[in-house]
Amino acid sequence: MKVLVPVKRVIDYNVRPRVKADQSGIDLANVKMAMNPFDEISIEEAVRMKEKGLATEIVIVSIGPAQAQETIRIGLAMGGDRGILVQTDAAVEPLAVAKILAKIVEAEQPGLVIAGKQAIDDDSNATGQMLAALLDWPQATFASAVAKDGETLKVTREVDGGLETLALQLPAVVTTDLRLNEPRFASLPNIMKAKKKPIDTKSPADYGVDITPRLSVVKVTEPKKREAGEKVADVDALIAKLKSAGAI
Ligand code: AMP
Repeated sequence: MKVLVPVKRVIDYNVRPRVKADQSGIDLANVKMAMNPFDEISIEEAVRMKEKGLATEIVIVSIGPAQAQETIRIGLAMGGDRGILVQTDAAVEPLAVAKILAKIVEAEQPGLVIAGKQAIDDDSNATGQMLAALLDWPQATFASAVAKDGETLKVTREVDGGLETLALQLPAVVTTDLRLNEPRFASLPNIMKAKKKPIDTKSPADYGVDITPRLSVVKVTEPKKREAGEKVADVDALIAKLKSAGAI
């Protein structure tokens, strides 16, 4: 079974984002970028499936600027087999990403797509669901455990009330949650080996997908600054404070 893993190059999660002076978005000039953390989890899951003999090939896809090739290389160093970079400098919204991925699925015929549940830059949480809808494939989002049983995939999902287990007929789309696994670090020998793995470069036009934005960002603002805390002498003083603040 071939597994397709879409990965997005996003602002590194350790970086504190700065809002542009004109409030049109986040300033990405000279900012450290990295693979979306949920996508590392997806690659780890695909690699574990390959190690168990459940997957035969892992194809890593990224839609983004030329530098997204570095993001694909990290995935290849973690255990991916080959990459596809759909190169564009434009910001691509989830629907356009899903349309491009659907075309790649048509060409590559994977048995499974494992995407992240959300990209930490826009927090859209939409691409996997849109892709499943476009392909008319079963989907299981927010996976915290995945087990293959013949042509069925058992996916445990973290839902509000606890855990839910779904049985999906393959081919299917799964999106990964934080507790699914702990992604491995790419070792130096594997980073060297990954340099030789093939990456195809395409453009959105190659797939006939119009990536013109449908959404417009009205304004981006910093979150409200947290006010400094205050130490109180004892529980009575704490209760008095809370009462006077109208908190209890
Ligand atoms: P989102 O719907 O934007 O929150 O993203 C959810 C998931 O879709 C990500 O974790 C990736 O697996 C995939 N994805 C989103 N944007 C891209 C992109 N530009 N290139 C490749 N995969 C993407």
